[in-house]
Amino acid sequence: MGIKALVSVDMEGIAGVVHPAEINPERYEYDRCRRLMTGAANAAVEGIIDADPAAEVLVADSHGPYRNILPEDLDRRARLVRGKPRQLGMLAGLQGGVEVALFVGYHGRAGAGGAVLAHTISDAVLDIRIHGRSHGEIGINTLLAGSYGVPVVLVSGDDAACEEFADLAPGAVTVPVKRGLGQHAADTLHPEEARDRLREGTARAIRRRTGEPPVSVPQPVEVEVDLHQPRGADLAVLIPGVSRKGGRTLTFTAQTMTAAYEVIQLIVLLAQTPS
Ligand SMILES: [Zn+2]
Repeated sequence: MGIKALVSVDMEGIAGVVHPAEINPERYEYDRCRRLMTGAANAAVEGIIDADPAAEVLVADSHGPYRNILPEDLDRRARLVRGKPRQLGMLAGLQGGVEVALFVGYHGRAGAGGAVLAHTISDAVLDIRIHGRSHGEIGINTLLAGSYGVPVVLVSGDDAACEEFADLAPGAVTVPVKRGLGQHAADTLHPEEARDRLREGTARAIRRRTGEPPVSVPQPVEVEVDLHQPRGADLAVLIPGVSRKGGRTLTFTAQTMTAAYEVIQLIVLLAQTPS
């Protein structure tokens, strides 16, 4: 039996990508960047299968509408999780006996300086804290995977994303593909060079998979969310169990990390609701 791996792929941390226009389906350059994203996903699939030819690989498209990767161009040895909403969001597929998770194309958390396209789930969010510690998508998703006993064995993105992950899992593999020069600027590898490094790093991460313990937090889980606008908080307090701590800060306690993730998704959805 081969290893069962989940590859969650975002777009902001892909080599060559630096600007919102490139990652928004409504805007120019998006078609090019979805191909770059598909190429990065393929590099990870190849690396996993290089290390374990019997591996079962699930790719979760995890950017924006969750419909970016071109299914017809994805390595046919992988299965694709596509579309939204879905209960476990960026980690949909995790419940089915996944043994390791890999995050490709990931980005730094909201407010991180010098981090390309840094944000936490949405620009409507200023910060998310779990048990008092600030986390971006890398941290939140690492803790969600950890609550299922699944270690994240590789993160790829810009240097800030890789450092953010190294703080949580110092021994895991990181594959930086660009150096952030600002929110919308980077010194980036050529996409093909990035794919080669990603394939090699992924194979290395899979070969030593038993080395990394899952990262988890105590349950129940204490969560605080700072929103950009108080109006989002006006809506979010309608969720049972969510209360307001300040003008734009919400707090809640969830029994499990999965429940915390669900409520976070709901708060963000409400914060994005047009008035
Ligand atoms: Zn994204």
